[in-house]
Amino acid sequence: MKVHVHRVELPLQHEFTIARGSLSVQKSLIVELEHDGVRGFGEATAHAYYGVTVDSMANSIDRCRPLIEAFGFDSACELWNQLRPQLVDELFLLAAIDSAAHDLFGKLAGRFTHAMLGLCWGDVPQSSFTIGIDTIDRMIEKLAERSGWSAYKIKLGTDHDIEITRQLRQETSATLRVDANCGWTADETIANSHALKELDVEFIEQPLPADAPIEDQRRAFEESALPIIADESCRIESDVEKCDGLFHGINVKLSKCGGITPGLRMLQRARELGLKTMVGCMVESTVGISAAAQLLPLLDYADLDGAELLAGDVAHGVSVADGVVRMSDRFGNGVELFESVTARV
Ligand SMILES: [Mg+2]
Repeated sequence: MKVHVHRVELPLQHEFTIARGSLSVQKSLIVELEHDGVRGFGEATAHAYYGVTVDSMANSIDRCRPLIEAFGFDSACELWNQLRPQLVDELFLLAAIDSAAHDLFGKLAGRFTHAMLGLCWGDVPQSSFTIGIDTIDRMIEKLAERSGWSAYKIKLGTDHDIEITRQLRQETSATLRVDANCGWTADETIANSHALKELDVEFIEQPLPADAPIEDQRRAFEESALPIIADESCRIESDVEKCDGLFHGINVKLSKCGGITPGLRMLQRARELGLKTMVGCMVESTVGISAAAQLLPLLDYADLDGAELLAGDVAHGVSVADGVVRMSDRFGNGVELFESVTARV
């Protein structure tokens, strides 16, 4: 098995702003695993909050290359087990390799990844579309540009969050969810939850910082009028148990947890605990979205619009048009990198 990496820059349609900052170009690393001419792809994006850069990931993969290239395979899970000790602090890269391995082994077996995970693609949830922080007029315009989606996730964390939501609610009867990205206190969360419930919002994602005092998190959980979903507070497998009693659900992202292999276990454990399940994404291309989409049969909510926020993609794969997630007709995760990208190795 050979390893190749592709550094890509993904331009966004609109500058994307959340409580922590703005982004107009997303840097990303595509990992390619190749065997007998069959190629699997995985993606990991740079991310300031998690301290990840494309350079750091590209350097680290060189360290893992001997292990990967010598791997006597046919299990992505076993490759993950072998790589985890080397990449314990580099879960974004581990996720990209794990996703590429699932894509490759699925293609070699002639099966979809979700089927190889034992999941049945049935009545899967639609994805929400994310509206980044902007002036209210611009946020209304962004909603109107994507009027066909059944659910929207509104990024909040301003001094006028309720007004933003109120005005967007006047524009649509679709499902609204909000994500404060750690921007609120416990008191704000509780107060906002009641106002947002009046506006028929479905849930609040990560209102408090991940390091907020436990008593604040518990008070927000117990007194909120709306369900609270953990994102920054639920990164890795051991976080799922910690979220029980502090959150009503978890948002798993492959980059945070280290790939499909641990993500599957996190979702299964969350369901055992009675937590709602969601898979989210970074601003990322169809390579990353196609991997995350394999877990859809386990989800209550999906937030897989990362590639829909881009002005230019780098691959064919799972599509998320108007929120409806459609599998690729290729096996594995269904990814085929554009030739314009593979030619740049
Ligand atoms: Mg979030």
